[in-house]
Amino acid sequence: MQAPTRIPGSLVGFALILLIGAQQGCGPQAEDHAEGEGEMAEGQMEAEHAEGEGEGEVHWGYEGETGPDGWGGLDPSFAVCDTGLEQSPIDLAGAISADADDGGLDIQWQATEWEVVDNGHTIQINVAEGSSVVLEGRQFSLVQFHFHLPSEHTVDGAASPMEVHFVHAAEEGDLAVIGVFMEAGDEDPAIQGLWEAIPGPEEAPAAVGALDPGALLPEGRGYFRYQGSLTTPPCSEVVSWVVMTESISVSQAQVDAFAALYPMNARPVQPLNEREIRLH
Ligand SMILES: [Zn+2]
Repeated sequence: MQAPTRIPGSLVGFALILLIGAQQGCGPQAEDHAEGEGEMAEGQMEAEHAEGEGEGEVHWGYEGETGPDGWGGLDPSFAVCDTGLEQSPIDLAGAISADADDGGLDIQWQATEWEVVDNGHTIQINVAEGSSVVLEGRQFSLVQFHFHLPSEHTVDGAASPMEVHFVHAAEEGDLAVIGVFMEAGDEDPAIQGLWEAIPGPEEAPAAVGALDPGALLPEGRGYFRYQGSLTTPPCSEVVSWVVMTESISVSQAQVDAFAALYPMNARPVQPLNEREIRLH
């Protein structure tokens, strides 16, 4: 994770908290981990205060009264989960051909230090400074990536076994997230290394050394593009979404290993409303 002192601009820190702070969480497991997070936990606390959420964590999950249908009512700061018109994820259907002049997507990732965290909602990999993307002419810095099972986005109604989200923040505070579908097939060596580094419930985040996140990208660079939100509370509508059209392959055993920790951590698809999906 980028320590707050290394994040270029306080607004970036704030944006990260919108996501990461929100994903911190509910239950003793997440609390244990939060204690071990040092500088990052400190930054998150600052931002929680800035948002006015106070000390308490609002418990949310994927089932029952605290599940996705109830998120908007759990806390006033979650209201947009119910009322928003640009929510994520969505079903990627009916995409239109993209304008060739919008600047496209330039992924500029490099090998940096990673840290694996079990935050109570997913397995998250915090990434040291140095990787970024330029999306439609704007630069966003990669700060973390994490996993959902099954996939949150669907294509023509079909979900994949898993989806990874690469979360990037701009200095202005908004986010660009790149989603990659994970299909069951050949084992992925990078995923294997990550899974083996997942800390236990009582353990601090695990450092995994310098790795290139590009190992988790498909070869093809085609993508869907739309405007949306965080897929977890507070569901903030600040995300420029990119979902790659090609998938990466992981083994069924790797899917099963994640499912043993998080058997279901995907928000259902949300209405498209007036938005366009562009295909690049
Ligand atoms: Zn996500």
